[in-house]
Amino acid sequence: MADVEKVVIIGSGPAGWTGAIYAARASLQPLVLAGDGLNRDRMPGGQLMWTSEVENFPGFAHGIDGKKMMGVLQQQAERFGTRVKAHYVLRVDLSKRPFTIWHANELSGDEEVVTTAQAIIISTGASANYLGLPSERQFENNGVSACAVCDGALPRFRNSPLVVVGGGDSAVEEATYLTKFASKVYLVHRREALRASRIMTQRALENEKIVPVWNTVLDEIVGTEAEGVTGVRTRNLQTQETGLIEARGMFAAIGHTPNTKFLAGQVELDDKNYVVLKDGGRSLTSVEGVFAAGDCADFTYRQAITAAGMGCRAALDAERFLAEKGVH
Ligand code: NAP
Repeated sequence: MADVEKVVIIGSGPAGWTGAIYAARASLQPLVLAGDGLNRDRMPGGQLMWTSEVENFPGFAHGIDGKKMMGVLQQQAERFGTRVKAHYVLRVDLSKRPFTIWHANELSGDEEVVTTAQAIIISTGASANYLGLPSERQFENNGVSACAVCDGALPRFRNSPLVVVGGGDSAVEEATYLTKFASKVYLVHRREALRASRIMTQRALENEKIVPVWNTVLDEIVGTEAEGVTGVRTRNLQTQETGLIEARGMFAAIGHTPNTKFLAGQVELDDKNYVVLKDGGRSLTSVEGVFAAGDCADFTYRQAITAAGMGCRAALDAERFLAEKGVH
């Protein structure tokens, strides 16, 4: 078996890369298990790979494309000696140190590998939620999506009415982005007010192509296998009135679930499966030597910049931990 790693970073979003930059500059030669790209949720780079323009990350006065930003962060981490493997973590054993991590690339068929590590930083982010309707599954990739940036430009969505569900920043961002292609975007929200930030809300509501549909939920996505989605059945929560919106696509933008399934029973998770952080906001988890950073441990802020800050803290905490244990 290969040597024991000093620190393994699981996940490669802003938290993972920032942790890697700090750990590498502390001469810890971190190994980043970046994800295998088998599906959207396992993509190296994480959620920002699906974001068009990041306008609120300090340092980019005119914004930066999410994919480009992740590439730059990776380069910065590699410059100081970070090693990167496009592998997905299947399971871990955190019951004793060194910790054991089983990982593979299921996209390319790379076999399962076992790595041991003195410290681990978990920065696996979160994945998009869907509404949970049976018809939503039926039309997945046939008009149903949770990512406007990935799918919005597809021919099927062009010059057609589309539906976005949700009331947060993701929903208004997706709706605004889709107006580039769609004839009209219905923004369906179960309340009468959006929870998105004021500037993004204003931008969306001033857009002539965006039609808000308040106090409304979807009961069903309708369509045919050949045509894909042709509409959505709606229900007004105040009047119980039902209706049909004709649309060629339905984009769910209703929040995220932390990518922590592989940690069940290994490290303390909260009732929403976010990693629980100990000691007043440091990056310590319930297991000594295991640190967490970014969206997998942050229900509240979930921003690229807060994730990056958490990645920095996790690397500093890991460095301190390893020094205390005499690992150099
Ligand atoms: P969010 O803020 O948690 O909003 C989720 C929205 O979906 C809420 O409006 C919620 O309704 C609705 N929702 C949840 N479950 C639903 C269901 N089953 N059926 C119908 N509606 C449902 O999530 P988010 O918009 O993904 O944003 C997450 C974080 O990322 C936030 O901190 C946000 O600021 C940030 N973000 C920032 C940017 C940016 O600055 N460029 C872009 C995207 C996201 P209720 O309002 O009723 O709860």
